[in-house]
Parts: sequence; structure tokens; C-alpha cells
Amino acid sequence: MSTQEITPDAYCVFGNPIAHSKSPAIHAAFAQQTGEAIVYERRLAPLDGFALAARGFAAEGGRGANVTVPFKLDACALATELTPRARAAGAVNTLRFDGDVILGDNTDGAGLVADIVRNAGVAVAGKRVLLLGAGGAARGVVLPLLQEQPAEIFIANRTVATAARLVEQFQDAVPAGCALRAGGFEQPDGVFDLVINATSASLAGDLPPVPPAVFAANTLALDMMYGAAPTVFMDFAAENGAQVRDGLGMLVEQAAEAFYVWRGVRPATQDLLALLRGAL
Ligand code: NDP
Repeated sequence: MSTQEITPDAYCVFGNPIAHSKSPAIHAAFAQQTGEAIVYERRLAPLDGFALAARGFAAEGGRGANVTVPFKLDACALATELTPRARAAGAVNTLRFDGDVILGDNTDGAGLVADIVRNAGVAVAGKRVLLLGAGGAARGVVLPLLQEQPAEIFIANRTVATAARLVEQFQDAVPAGCALRAGGFEQPDGVFDLVINATSASLAGDLPPVPPAVFAANTLALDMMYGAAPTVFMDFAAENGAQVRDGLGMLVEQAAEAFYVWRGVRPATQDLLALLRGAL
């Protein structure tokens, strides 16, 4: 009996820097779990050379790529087709190469929602949501959050005009019974069910100056950043009674969604999330 050699399909993650990326380990685990024949590597692209690097990878036979800082806007420009959620985000974290077509998708928002709803077991429907930040990560999660039909999303940002622009941009996607508002960090009033830190303040150990009264015992406070220790935002939210969560679940879930975009197979995430948590 002859065994047939299967050539695995090639994928990679582009970034600069990229050495820290957990994506190769995550996708290797997904491939093993699902039996999909893929190889996945890190690729450092020059700061001014993303498009060339991505086209080169596709020309080598690459089937798709993840894209991280600082290339999500370049990836959006490179794509010949965008999914509605990538168009809404104005940024692409997942590319799929289909012949001449370069499909651009954004799985960050779906990853966040999956982590909140499935992993944390917290429904977004009918809830008050406070979104801190109005940069790329925030913009990517607004549409998937609105699709969960919350009662309110308040986007608070240091530069209020940027948050106001997001509210304008997403006005047509606001479901009936939901309010989408913008303001400064000090502005949100009352308790919120969900407070999501999508600022990059945690990277510098800073805390967005939100009123402590936004937190209560049934508030889920989620920082998109993750690490071995809780962020200053998570500590602050916990001191004020909230349940806290970091961005590791979002990272794993956005990867699972990208894997689905490429392979049409949805990997399980619970065991891997626990494994990665233990290794932080
Ligand atoms: P951007 O640079 O696009 O946006 C940064 C945002 O943070 C802006 O709203 C900015 O406000 C605000 N900000 C920056 N510094 C401060 C500060 N000191 N105090 C208050 N606000 C501040 O970054 P991204 O949106 O791409 O990323 C944000 C975070 O999300 C990062 O920590 C990133 O690692 C994380 N992330 C996590 C993912 C995951 O899978 N877990 C996926 C994607 C992102 P202003 O407009 O006023 O400048």
C-alpha cells in the first residue's frame, strides 16, 4: 500500500516586530486538533515593505496570512475584496489568497465577542457597554458588538473627536433600542455591565481616567492587553468590585475565526486557552 504525501498549505503572520507572536503556536495547535495539513510561520516585514512581503508570500504558494501591528491598514489597502466587518473596521488582520483575489477580513471583533459571550458566559444583548479607546482595535469591535444588540455603547476616548467620528460612522448599524454615544473618559455615568479597555494605555502602565462608579459587582471589565500579571486597568476595576478578564481569550478566539476563514473548520479553544494561560 502506498502512502500519499500531502503538501501542507502555508500560512504566516506578518508584523514588525514579530518575534513575540503567539500565532504560530496557536495555529499549530488548531491544525493538530482538526487534522488540517498546514504550516504556519512568523514573517518580519520591513516597515515600508508590507505589500511586497505579502505578495511575495502569496507567489511562493502561501494561502493566507494574519497581520498584526503595524500593518493592519496596509493589509486593508492590499486586499482586492473586503468582508463587511473588515470594511467597517477599516483594518485587516486576516488575508486569504485565492488565485488573483486577496480577501481581507477582520476577526478581532468576532474574537472579542466570542470570548465575552462563550468563554466568559456574559451576554451583550440588552447590556450597557463602555468602550474605552477609539483606535484600530476599538473600531474593529464596534460592529460585532452592535450586532449583539446591546442597550447602549458609550465610546470614551482621550481625543473625543475620534470617538465622535466612530459614532457617526456606525450610526446606520445601530439596532433599534440601542444608543451609540461618544465622550471623554470622565463622561460616562452610572454602572456599565461591560467595560472594555481598547486603549493602548496599559502598554505604558497607564490608566484611562474613568469614574470608579462605572464598575459594580456584575460588571465584566476586559482589557484587550494580556500578560502574566493583571494590567493597571484590571487592578483598578477589581478594586472597584468588577469581574476582570484580559485579552488572551480574544487573541485565541480571533485566531480560531481566522482558521475558520481559511479552512472552513472551527477549532475548539478552551484547552488551548488554559494551556497558554499557564505558560504566560
Ligand atoms: P491604536 O494606536 O490604534 O489606538 C490607541 C488608543 O489608545 C487610542 O484611542 C488612544 O487615544 C488611546 N490611548 C493611547 N495612550 C493612552 C493613554 N495613555 N491614556 C488613554 N488613552 C490612550 O492601538 P490599537 O487600537 O491597535 O490597540 C489598542 C490595544 O488593544 C493594544 O494594547 C493592543 O495590544 C490591544 N489589542 C489586543 C488584541 C487581542 O487579540 N487581545 C487585538 C488587537 C489589539 P487617542 O485617540 O487620544 O490617541
